[in-house]
Amino acid sequence: MSTPILNPATGEAITVVEPLGPAEVDAAIALAARTFETWRHTGPSQRAALLRRFAAAVDADLENLAALEVANAGHTLSDARWEAGNVRDVLAYYAGAPERHTGAQIPVDGGVDITFHEPLGVTGIIVPWNFPMPIAAWGFAPALAAGNTVVLKPAELTPLTALRLAELALEAGLPEGVLQVLPGKGPVIGERFIAHPAVRKVVFTGSTEVGRQIMAGCSAQLKRVTLELGGKSANIIFDDADLEAAAAAAPGGAFDNAGQDCCARSRVLVQANVYERFLELLEPQVTGLAAGDPRQADTAMGPLISAAQRDRVAGYVTADDVVFQGRAPDGPGFWFPPTVLAPAPGSPALREEIFGPVLAVVPFRDEADAIRIANDSAYGLSGSIWTSDLGRALRTARGVEAGNLSVNSHSSVRYWTPFGGFKHSGLGRELGPDALDAFTETKNVFIATGR
Ligand code: NAD
Repeated sequence: MSTPILNPATGEAITVVEPLGPAEVDAAIALAARTFETWRHTGPSQRAALLRRFAAAVDADLENLAALEVANAGHTLSDARWEAGNVRDVLAYYAGAPERHTGAQIPVDGGVDITFHEPLGVTGIIVPWNFPMPIAAWGFAPALAAGNTVVLKPAELTPLTALRLAELALEAGLPEGVLQVLPGKGPVIGERFIAHPAVRKVVFTGSTEVGRQIMAGCSAQLKRVTLELGGKSANIIFDDADLEAAAAAAPGGAFDNAGQDCCARSRVLVQANVYERFLELLEPQVTGLAAGDPRQADTAMGPLISAAQRDRVAGYVTADDVVFQGRAPDGPGFWFPPTVLAPAPGSPALREEIFGPVLAVVPFRDEADAIRIANDSAYGLSGSIWTSDLGRALRTARGVEAGNLSVNSHSSVRYWTPFGGFKHSGLGRELGPDALDAFTETKNVFIATGR
């Protein structure tokens, strides 16, 4: 049955997409497996050239891709342009890999020893709805560069940009079967990715709950997995920080993409002696945040992805906990205002991933207390540390159990550097050089040279 695709800013259907069934998924996997036999042997200069052409095709289509994402995911126009640009940049970055991902020659007794980075084969990539374009590219760009073929399942709610990216890949000259996008239900397609023997690796980005199921399914066959899961990241503000800068950055760290960001700094930990001052500085930043029509250039925050997500977020907000709240349109569409809470200890709003524009403020005493509170979470994806003391910044960064930390910044993702989570936030790393290791096996060959 075809799935209506809604515009979350209006609640109206913009198109319908046909979900694929298991037989169609198996046919796509079979094509990917056949194509792998030629793609893996495509010379490095040619593979690099094709990826550069794919990057150029994304660049030429950037405004169209951005407009599609604004309509399908409710992202603001400036965010959607950044996201399409990120796909281009990630492709251009990994286009350098086929010609530069060199192996090693290792000194050994009795001969010559060399290592090769062998591609895995067909890679199944499962993408969530919060960043449909970049998360797809963080999977397929390094996978293809390393010589794998890809079958990619976008989220049911947001398949449109991924489908367009697959068209652009063909237009850029990538052979059919190198990158296929398969819209459909998570459990149906996920089951084929897990069970089909030709799929050698599953990359999953999404909730910790589904990630656990994927890992359990893959473990039976020792199938490789990369998991990028949820977060409840801490933004730690010490009393020696530039408080104006920290207060100006905190809404971006928590409310970007209406808080539907795995890296959202949804807990703001503030040293007790500057807690009141920080809240005074934060209030106008939150109440003045422009939430509304995502197509307008000056809009800072769009809607939530669905009515269900809005209702889930609202369930975490009780009037007693609200410190202050900004504004959002009443509807139609799936809106929720940017909200700052001071929850009681033990509140679910302090522990669970809300995945909406809601941040919780928590006072702390000293460095050790800040690290203890930051680590009092099952998750460990990202976080920020604001201080003017470099030693304190580094001690705190080393103490926080998270994969991606920034100091005096709320930056989360840079495609040159490894990205991934500690604890229940995931397994493995994407982006940077690490992603190439995640899509290859190291093969060692020893050649006896005699005496
Ligand atoms: P989700 O787990 O419900 O769905 C993610 C994807 O998995 C979708 O494509 C969905 O169709 C598919 N899926 C659902 N059930 C499946 C199953 N049984 N087998 C296989 N696939 C299945 O998550 P969501 O609600 O789309 O996304 C939000 C979650 O993603 C949040 O928890 C967020 O933190 C996380 N996330 C993590 C990162 C990261 O890099 N760590 C990035 C973005 C989002």
